[in-house]
Amino acid sequence: MRILPSLIVVAGLVAAMPAAAQDLAKGAAAVRDKALADSTGWDVVESLTTEIGPRPIGSPAMQRARDWGVATLKRLGFENVHVEPFTTNAWSRGAESAAVVGPWPQKLAILGIGGSAPTPPGGITAPIALFTSYQAMIDQPVGSLAGKIAVVTQKMPRNQDGSGYGYVGVQRRAGPVEAAKRGAVGYMIRSLSTDDTRLPHTGAGAAAGIPAAALSTVDAELLEHMVARGQPVTVHLEMASSVNPKADAWNVVGEIKGSEKPDEVIVVGGHLDSWDPGTGAIDDGAGVAITTAAAKMAGSMGRPKRTIRVVMWGSEEQEGSGAAYAAAHKDEAAKIIVAGESDLGADRIYSLSLPPPAYAHDAMKAFRASLAPLKVVVLPSPPRQGGSDIAGLIGLKVPFVDFNQDASRYFDLHHSADDTLDKIDPASLAQTVAVWASFLYTVANSDVDFRPKPAP
Ligand code: ZN
Ligand code: ZN
Repeated sequence: MRILPSLIVVAGLVAAMPAAAQDLAKGAAAVRDKALADSTGWDVVESLTTEIGPRPIGSPAMQRARDWGVATLKRLGFENVHVEPFTTNAWSRGAESAAVVGPWPQKLAILGIGGSAPTPPGGITAPIALFTSYQAMIDQPVGSLAGKIAVVTQKMPRNQDGSGYGYVGVQRRAGPVEAAKRGAVGYMIRSLSTDDTRLPHTGAGAAAGIPAAALSTVDAELLEHMVARGQPVTVHLEMASSVNPKADAWNVVGEIKGSEKPDEVIVVGGHLDSWDPGTGAIDDGAGVAITTAAAKMAGSMGRPKRTIRVVMWGSEEQEGSGAAYAAAHKDEAAKIIVAGESDLGADRIYSLSLPPPAYAHDAMKAFRASLAPLKVVVLPSPPRQGGSDIAGLIGLKVPFVDFNQDASRYFDLHHSADDTLDKIDPASLAQTVAVWASFLYTVANSDVDFRPKPAP
């Protein structure tokens, strides 16, 4: 048998540790192996998608999701289970349709972009102005798109880290406002997706006072083919939607109380709300399941020294839950040891970044040693993003981690009717639970400090 050099390094890492650290390493490996063989993560996301389904903010389903979250955390043995209410702006979809009316009439598959204005009853019919890049639309002078439906068909690149989404995201988020500024009466984009199906992908955009919709990727290409023929193309767009500026929302919380330092808290979670077309399996039932299962696994080895807290954030897609959480916990921020969010699906974690001040701590050596069989690269660079629900905590100087999941196929599914349970691979899901569980275990059972030390 050939011994790989990386395994020799890892074995050396453990052997060089003091006895207490070696116990931590043994515990981390045991938690990891337990998580790999455990089905809690799968059971949680199966339950959420089957018993609740789509969970748009402001909907009756979101109230059921709140009750489901409380019941699930209690059933799994969490303590101090409670909800933290807040209010937020909630856009709700109504009936929607789009079609080419000339010169070659046919239906188009669309989903309204969150925040979009409805059309007048009966819809709007207008010629389109099509741009194959977002910049090409931005280059048009103010007023130049008067009376037209602006269409941007820029493609999203596929990559493992999902960065293609950030690259094209502006066309959904800011595009409606920019189109309205140029006089457009409506706005459509190629879905921010890497798929080749006729399912459109929704998501939030800025309210711009005009109807805005996402075309399926293939319908965006259909419009490109029509426009290439050189004749004006006219589209009919009909959308009904409504807004509740003060919708009730909740962050759902459960803890495993620490035995020695209960006021030192590790905060992890995913978001409980979802968009409406699918059942919110990968976005973000998976993140709720991964962090809930990981906390349960980490707490199953005996009560941890520090408190592990799971938060099911209640309004990520249309914003609100991260800010509400930070506002409610600002006085506690200095005691939050580290925060982490899982919101990139259910595929394997392939790399991660830790706050540099703790990189050489025995607890993080134990954690890193436990990762070898899980095929995770620990990056030398500091974490960059964290996640939108912990952005408020990060703003309060709470340290955070990035656990990078393979997002190669995430944007085939994300925010579409195809975001369903069957897309989750149980073995990949268990790998992510194992990584988080080992991390929670080592941080909760040590004195590792992720904050930079003050200068002497
Ligand atoms: Zn999400
Ligand atoms: Zn999302």
